[in-house]
Amino acid sequence: MEHFVLICIIYFFHFILFYYIARFLFCKYREFYISVVLCYTDEKEESEQPVQGRKEKTMSVKGAVMVPHPPLIVPAVGRGEEKKIQATVDAYHQAARQIAAWKPDTVVVTSPHSVMYADYFHISPGKSARGSFARFRAPQTEFQEEYDTEFVRVLSREAEARDIPAGTLGERDKSLDHGTMVPLYFLNQYDTDYRLVRIGLSGLPLTKHYELGACIKKTAELLGRSIVIIGSGDLSHKLKEDGPYGFQKEGPEYDARIMDVMGRAAFSELFDFSEEFCDRAAECGHRSFTIMAGALDGLSVKAERLSHEGTFGVGYGICTYEVTGRDPERHFLEQYFQQQKEKIRKKKMAEDPYVSLARQTIETYVKTGEKIKVPRDLPEEMYSGRAGVFVSLKEDGRLRGCIGTIAPVRENIAREIIENAISAAARDPRFHAVEPEELDCLVYSVDVLGNTEEIDSAEELDVKRYGVVVSRGRRRGLLLPNLEGVDTVEEQIRIAKQKAGIPDEAEDVRLERFEVVRHF
Ligand SMILES: [Zn+2]
Repeated sequence: MEHFVLICIIYFFHFILFYYIARFLFCKYREFYISVVLCYTDEKEESEQPVQGRKEKTMSVKGAVMVPHPPLIVPAVGRGEEKKIQATVDAYHQAARQIAAWKPDTVVVTSPHSVMYADYFHISPGKSARGSFARFRAPQTEFQEEYDTEFVRVLSREAEARDIPAGTLGERDKSLDHGTMVPLYFLNQYDTDYRLVRIGLSGLPLTKHYELGACIKKTAELLGRSIVIIGSGDLSHKLKEDGPYGFQKEGPEYDARIMDVMGRAAFSELFDFSEEFCDRAAECGHRSFTIMAGALDGLSVKAERLSHEGTFGVGYGICTYEVTGRDPERHFLEQYFQQQKEKIRKKKMAEDPYVSLARQTIETYVKTGEKIKVPRDLPEEMYSGRAGVFVSLKEDGRLRGCIGTIAPVRENIAREIIENAISAAARDPRFHAVEPEELDCLVYSVDVLGNTEEIDSAEELDVKRYGVVVSRGRRRGLLLPNLEGVDTVEEQIRIAKQKAGIPDEAEDVRLERFEVVRHF
């Protein structure tokens, strides 16, 4: 009997202890629990291949809008000037009413004028932030916004899990930027019952911006938040000769193209805008729109193009996207990677022995750390000929490494390629060493240099035909011919000077030119 009571008491205490441990664990890992459960249901939904356009009550992303952010659209700043962009004002009100009708818990704003890093997406930390248009002579137009701290925490965690460098580190200025405040100026006239998430852009490729967007969508699903994304961004700044930034022919081209793409919600085409083209057009919003597109990944949307104006020489475009269901055909990043892989596969099949040698060298070196032996079946001139060689790697359309020799330093071209290929992949000081998982995405080219000849002036250059070597004392910089984004001799010389560390204004320089045979 005594034993029985004792056992009962022990069991009772064990039960209490177990209950509290379970409760503690559940509270502590609630988010984890939620994500496990939701990941599971999400996968199930995906595998059922939902019918296009099916409306789901549980859809977390309600919609998105693409809007510009000219401070002068705010009457206190514009003082009448805003009337010159009335179509934009009207469309902005319509977009703001639309957001209010979606009743979001949280509004995510991506802004080009928040904190921006070359290799990191900054998400604003803290509970709240203030801002005003004081910088634009309207201090009376003020904002006080509450941040969705839980959303920020889970988004940072999800980004880390996907290898997207994003988080709340390195905030330099806590106050709200105009890229965020202009959209909120309109939205707050119709809805103030939301919390804010503010995200800056980065110098990373467009694909990373899209991935971050997909991560925003995932976070909303995990937390069961209804959200709206505002992709804040102006279009080209170079639409008019008398505009504040002048005219560039790519300016109006960019505006026409982006409005066409965004008007059709054809987000796969966002990746087709090259960096050079965007730079020349001096756009501000492309990466912002790309994050927004990513947040709509796999969703069907009803797109509406509301307005486009370029009155002041800067493009302002407004489109809205109402989410109508899931659509497995709209996973654009996945499709893009597939296409890239296919392109690279085709390229590989067509490559010549020079490129093939560079690729084999790098693939072997990155995977094993070994330098390959010179293969036996190369064309004769690669064994007998000697020349300076440059090996270039590109990834995602961006330079990923380029190292070479102006004159030959090895016994033959094959050796020259092998040595320079390893340097380009592992020792280019501008980049970190190539990693094994990047190998499938690399595109190679090999330039075999002809002899350099000294020239008297830049007039003897031709940016498409000749490369240039600029020297001054012991400093020497080289630029290959016919490079994407380098269209004039002046640009070519300027970049070569930069590479040599020669000041741009220096005129006492020696110029040489050379031709190349490019293998790609
Ligand atoms: Zn801007």
